[in-house]
Amino acid sequence: MAKQEDLFKKVIAHAKEYGYIFQSSEIYDGLSAVYDYAQNGVELKKNIRDYWWKAMVQLNDNIVGIDAAILMHPTTWKASGHIDAFNDPLIDNKDSKKRYRADVLIEDYCLKIEKKIEKEITKAAKRFGESFNKEEFITTNQRVLTYQEKINTILARMGKSLEKENLADLKLLIEELEIADPLSGSKNWTEVKQFNLMFGTKLGANTATAMHLYLRPETAQGIFVNFANVQKTGRMKIPFGIAQTGKAFRNEIVARQFIFRMREFEQMEMQYFVKPGTEIEWYEKWKEKRLNWHKSLGLGEDNYRFHNHDKLAHYANAAADIEFNFPFGFKELEGIHSRTDFDLKAHEEHSGKKLRFFDPKTNANYVPYVVETSVGLDRLFLAIFSKALQNEELEDGSSRVVLRLPSILAPTKVAILPLLKKDGLPELAKSIMNDLMYNFQTMYDEKDAIGRRYRRQDANGTPFCITIDHQSLEDNTVTIRHRDSMKQERISINEITLIVSKEISFKKWIHNFRV
Ligand code: ATP
Repeated sequence: MAKQEDLFKKVIAHAKEYGYIFQSSEIYDGLSAVYDYAQNGVELKKNIRDYWWKAMVQLNDNIVGIDAAILMHPTTWKASGHIDAFNDPLIDNKDSKKRYRADVLIEDYCLKIEKKIEKEITKAAKRFGESFNKEEFITTNQRVLTYQEKINTILARMGKSLEKENLADLKLLIEELEIADPLSGSKNWTEVKQFNLMFGTKLGANTATAMHLYLRPETAQGIFVNFANVQKTGRMKIPFGIAQTGKAFRNEIVARQFIFRMREFEQMEMQYFVKPGTEIEWYEKWKEKRLNWHKSLGLGEDNYRFHNHDKLAHYANAAADIEFNFPFGFKELEGIHSRTDFDLKAHEEHSGKKLRFFDPKTNANYVPYVVETSVGLDRLFLAIFSKALQNEELEDGSSRVVLRLPSILAPTKVAILPLLKKDGLPELAKSIMNDLMYNFQTMYDEKDAIGRRYRRQDANGTPFCITIDHQSLEDNTVTIRHRDSMKQERISINEITLIVSKEISFKKWIHNFRV
C-alpha cells in the first residue's frame, strides 16, 4: 500500500514538474479538487480527446457530434431526475470532522479484502511455479472463496440499501464492518444524509426575477434535448449515435485523488439510439468496442476489467463500468449504460414536444432506447499518465525516468537538438524544425549535454529526438533516437517526416478497435 501511495505521489509531482497539471489558483493556495492543465497537459488532453473523437465520430458514418451549451433550461434537470435524485450519501466523522461518501467507505473496505485475495494468488503462484492455474485457484481455494463471498454479500446489501434509500442501513453496515475514518482511525460517525451534487447559479441581473440554473452535471442531457434536431437535419436512421465532449460540474463530497475526482471536469459521451428490444445487444457490443478502444493504447490488457452494476440508476436496465488499475487500485474509468427510453420520454412529458423516430418500414413512431458510453477525459488522462510514468533500470546500471506515453498522444512528437550551440548547427536545427512544425508539435533544446537533454525528453514523454551534428552539415543526415528503445539511427533529413508519421498514424494505433 505504501508503495502505491509513493507511486501516486510521484505521478502528481511529475505532472507538475514537467508542465502537465497545476493546482488551480495555486498562488492563492489552490481551490480544492479543481486543476489547470499546463502547457504539456493541454496537448496531451487534446490528443486524447481527438483519439476518442476520431474513433467515435470519424470512423462511424452513423455517429455525429455536437457541442451543446453548459447552461441549459432548468426543466432539463427536473425531467432527467437530477433535481430529485442526483445525490450521494454522505457521512461525517464526529471526531475528525471529515466528510466521506458512505458508499465509497464501504467499497474501499471491500478493496482491502480484494487485496488479500491478490496476496493469496501471488503466494500460490510462487509456490506452484509454472504449473499454477489462476482460474482454478480462485474458483477452488477455500480462503479466496470466503473472501469473495464476503465482498459479494457486502456489496449486495449496500446496493439494496442505496436502491431503497435506506440510509440507516448504510450506517449500520459501516458500524458492523467496524469501518474507521481512514485519516484518524475514529469510528464515531454521524447519520448518513443525502447530498445533491449540482452547482446552482443565477441567470439575469434582477434578483427577484433571476432564473435559477444549474451547471450541467453531465453532458448527456445536451444530446437528449437535441435528439429531434439532429435526427431531422442529419436525416439519421436508427441505429445512430450523437457524440459530445465538454465540461461537467459536480459538487463532489470528497475529492482527494488528484484529477480522478474533480469538481469541474470533462466528459466524452456518446448516446446511441436504438430500436426498443435491441438495446441489450447494442449494450454488449459497445462494452466490447469501448474496451478494445482502451486496449488499443497499449497500456497493458490486465489493467482493465468490467464491473457490472448491482445497483442500477433510475434510468438504466443494464450498466457496467470499465475499471482501470490506477495507482490506488481498480476504479471506474468509463460507464456503459443501457438507459432505456427514460430520458427521451421524460423530456417529451416535460416539454410537450415529440422526441420520436418514424420508422418508414412499419409506418409507426417510437421513442428510441439509448445505450450510452461515458468516459471522463481527466480520469483517462490520469490512467494514461500514471501507467506511462516508469522508472527504468538500464543495462549499464544507471536508471532513467521515462514517460512512455502512447506516441500518438504525446504532447511533443519531435525534439530538435543541435549537438553544439555553434558552427552553424543551431541554424540547421532550426531550419529542420521550421519544416517539421507544419506536421508535428516540435520542441527545440540546445541547453546542457546531449545525454541530459535525452533524459529530459524521456521524462517529458517525447517519442523522438533528432540530433544535428557536424556530419549533418556535410551529408544532410541526422541521428534519430527512439524514446522507448533508446535506439539511435542515422537517417536522411528527408526521412524524418515519414518515420514520425508512420509511428503516430491513427490507423496503426486504432488497429484493434473495430466498429
Ligand atoms: P463515480 O462513481 O466515480 O462518482 P459516476 O458513476 O458518478 O462516477 P458517471 O456519472 O457514470 O460517473 O460519469 C461518467 C464518467 O465521468 C465516469 O466514468 C468518470 O470517468 C467521469 N467522472 C464522473 N465524475 C467525475 C469527477 N468528479 N471527476 C472526474 N471525472 C468524473
